[in-house]
Amino acid sequence: MSIYRWFLRQAAIPIGSHLAGYGDFLPYLRQLEESQWWSWAQIRELQNAKLRRLINHVYQHVPFYRQVMQERGLTPDDIQTVDDLEKLPIVDKKIIARYYDTLMRDQSLPDKALIQARSSGSTGERLYYWTTKAQKAKKWAGLFRWWRMAGYDFGEPYVTLQLAGNRGLRHWPLVGHIEWLLLRHHWLSAWELIDDDVIKRYVEHLKTWRPKLFRSYASNMFLLAERMLELGLHVSIPVLTTTGDTLTESMRETIEQAFSPGRVFNEYGGDGMQIAAECDQHDGLHINAESVILEIVKAGKRSPDGELGEVVLTNLEATATPFIRYNIHDVATLSHEPCRCGRSLPRLSQLAGRLTDLFVTADGGWLTVHHACFFRAMDSIEAFQVIQKDIQHVVVKLVVNNDFGEADRQSVVDSLHACMGKDCQVTIDVVDEIPPTPAGKRLYFISEVIQSSNRTWSDGRA
Ligand SMILES: [Zn+2]
Repeated sequence: MSIYRWFLRQAAIPIGSHLAGYGDFLPYLRQLEESQWWSWAQIRELQNAKLRRLINHVYQHVPFYRQVMQERGLTPDDIQTVDDLEKLPIVDKKIIARYYDTLMRDQSLPDKALIQARSSGSTGERLYYWTTKAQKAKKWAGLFRWWRMAGYDFGEPYVTLQLAGNRGLRHWPLVGHIEWLLLRHHWLSAWELIDDDVIKRYVEHLKTWRPKLFRSYASNMFLLAERMLELGLHVSIPVLTTTGDTLTESMRETIEQAFSPGRVFNEYGGDGMQIAAECDQHDGLHINAESVILEIVKAGKRSPDGELGEVVLTNLEATATPFIRYNIHDVATLSHEPCRCGRSLPRLSQLAGRLTDLFVTADGGWLTVHHACFFRAMDSIEAFQVIQKDIQHVVVKLVVNNDFGEADRQSVVDSLHACMGKDCQVTIDVVDEIPPTPAGKRLYFISEVIQSSNRTWSDGRA
């Protein structure tokens, strides 16, 4: 270990994490790096033990759960294993937003221990909830486990491509400079990705800084990669992590062409949880099962492995605002098959996307952004966004060049009819630009027909 890395582990990381408002994550990271090699039965037993502790705690200290369990005639003894979780209701963002500061707040924690957190939804709507230093440290440990699994280590330079507005103090050059010196972290703004001069400058920066890891929302990294290829540019970066929005296979191929083949590691997180990420086998995303119980549920019932359903999460480390059987409104499939990497952590074999990115077809099926690749093959279309207004009406926003003609217009309509059925009304709207959401994501599909197949809990006040 170099002196710099020794300094990072012994001083910079522990001190920096306390200053940044979360506890030292290294002890929990060490636990995760041991338990990821356990058998699935051992990991399941760890989940059961953490679940029993969580349920005991929320029964004692969180009025919402005491009330719900009493109404159902349950005591903590009735929930011993992950299978017993089904006795509790599924909740969603609306219920947490309504009760996080009242019935869902952990009464055992003093005000000064609570940190308000917020997550940005895929279309920019926010969810506020409470967290603690210890919980944040565990979240960071989860993230660093993914990064180390992908081949990155502390002290190696990394670059984040993100909206300037989210950078907090880092727009002060001095803070950015200190961050680079101490943690070797740089930021690039995702606002200006449509300007070719900016793209060229970013590529030069990446060549100079030589980051070991480059991270961004999937859509922004794809946009950068696509422009780079058009301009004949290429940078080799060993680890590329994508998060935040759906990564399709064609997006992955473009990113790998512009950067490094086989080095895209998709990550999945949300609402204070590191949920899942790819290992170097790139065969699905391993679940952070020591911290999160992940169920796949359709129409209120658990789906068998391999079947699409909605992702329902229990954060085993959160009590300040508990997330117990929380429907995050994403659609995925689960696999417990052993992975070639040797880890027993189960995997999401398919992560289809967010419910708000999925179109609902007239027969109740889902259509994912993966179906939208036909637009990419059309040279006359520079950018697109498809909005499902209702089951039988979609609006296609297109940024086009001078080659766009009637035949192209017809081909867009035909493609959508092929997916959505002939009765679907298709409106084409040619626009000058398609801006990202306030949270910085570039959405290709937006469904205004959010149809959850899960019945979530309601007490008449929700
Ligand atoms: Zn693996």
